[in-house]
Amino acid sequence: METTNMELEHLIALNEVDALIVEIREQIELYPSKLRQMEERWTHQQKKHQDASARFDKALQQRRSAEKEVLTIREKIRKEQAKLMGVKSNKEYDAVLQEINAAGGKIDAWEMTGLEQLELEEKAGAERDLEKEHLDRLQPEQQAEKSRIDGMIREKQERLDKLEKEREPRLGQLDDTWVDDYELLMERYPGAAVVALEGNHCSGCNWRLVASTIQHVRENRNVVRCEHCQRVLYLKS
Ligand SMILES: [Zn+2]
Repeated sequence: METTNMELEHLIALNEVDALIVEIREQIELYPSKLRQMEERWTHQQKKHQDASARFDKALQQRRSAEKEVLTIREKIRKEQAKLMGVKSNKEYDAVLQEINAAGGKIDAWEMTGLEQLELEEKAGAERDLEKEHLDRLQPEQQAEKSRIDGMIREKQERLDKLEKEREPRLGQLDDTWVDDYELLMERYPGAAVVALEGNHCSGCNWRLVASTIQHVRENRNVVRCEHCQRVLYLKS
């Protein structure tokens, strides 16, 4: 038959509030790492953009210096060609011509370099623009997500404050002899100081309980504790 065990009722009620407090605290603790992950993603995306920009700048610079080389050599060829007019011997003529031909070969090589760098420049430029697009898309996404998370933290914090206030009178309802024991259990088993009897097991530690303990829980006259983990036991209604 059912009897009212007020002390147990108070313990159950307090444990319910504490279980919620523990759950909400755990949820709140997850948010900083979520925010950190977002920051890491942002930094990673920024780096990809910076790397592509750096590749673009380098290729651009190298293309320009190759083009400058070509201009310098062309100028040199013009001067050599002017010299050809004034040469006195075939030997001298051949020597100048050889200079001109050699310079022509250098122009080909520099033009090739210029083309290669232009190709790299175009590729890196396209990559840079793409990474910038990603970055621009990510920013509002992350801002929205951040304000969503900030809102959740605020909401949960408010809920937590309310529960903590609610906890006070419930703790006050406990018999003085129980307060320290309960707090000790709460420290050891956060949110689970009071657990149900599951068949002939304690649902907190899952150990099989001795028959007399089970009997006492069923009688519901006193507060009964698991002989293994010391948690308070109750009979599920
Ligand atoms: Zn137990």
